[in-house]
Amino acid sequence: MLERTGLNAGTSGNVSVRQNGGFLITPSGIAPAEMTVDMLVSMGMSGAWTGTRRPSTEWPLHRAVYAARPDAHAIVHTHSMFATTLSCQHRNIPAFHYMVAVAGGHDIPCAAYATFGTGALAEAAVEALAGRKACLLAQHGMLAIGTTLKDVCALALEVERLAEMYWRTLQTGEPRLLDAAEMARVLARFADYRRPQD
Ligand code: 13P
Ligand code: ZN
Repeated sequence: MLERTGLNAGTSGNVSVRQNGGFLITPSGIAPAEMTVDMLVSMGMSGAWTGTRRPSTEWPLHRAVYAARPDAHAIVHTHSMFATTLSCQHRNIPAFHYMVAVAGGHDIPCAAYATFGTGALAEAAVEALAGRKACLLAQHGMLAIGTTLKDVCALALEVERLAEMYWRTLQTGEPRLLDAAEMARVLARFADYRRPQD
């Protein structure tokens, strides 16, 4: 899905889901088209792993997010075009559109730059994700968390669309921003949105 929707290309990006007190993560350096289920790597929170391939180089990032965020059951990391473009300016995505609230707050923050695969990147991402379900990673890409793989893929796609809209808006002048009171109203409505009928 991440390739089909253009969110990822080549071997960039990685995906994981919580499992048995640890998580199942995509192998390192394998393009999705070449990936098969038996290549997935099972990891414990200690960093010990079993599998036929090495785990994604970003396993410290996935582990840190699972440790810090009990609400995260699935994680998607991409180098999608527009989220990454904005991340190269170390830009947050502000409240230029009400759907920014889909990531849980008044903006989609950008985590500080740190080398890929490091504990420093994991720390920066956990910090940027505070109160949010998605963030950008400076000069790198984006990260989204969710309760299911389906939800988190949908969120990653939404964040990428917002990043593209924001980028396009920037081309046409200074974007107008929704104020904090309006974003609070949007977040309150979101809490009710898609709730099953009573
Ligand atoms: P892996 O192939 O090791 O998952 O790395 C891709 C990536 O996006 C690194 O940040
Ligand atoms: Zn990456």
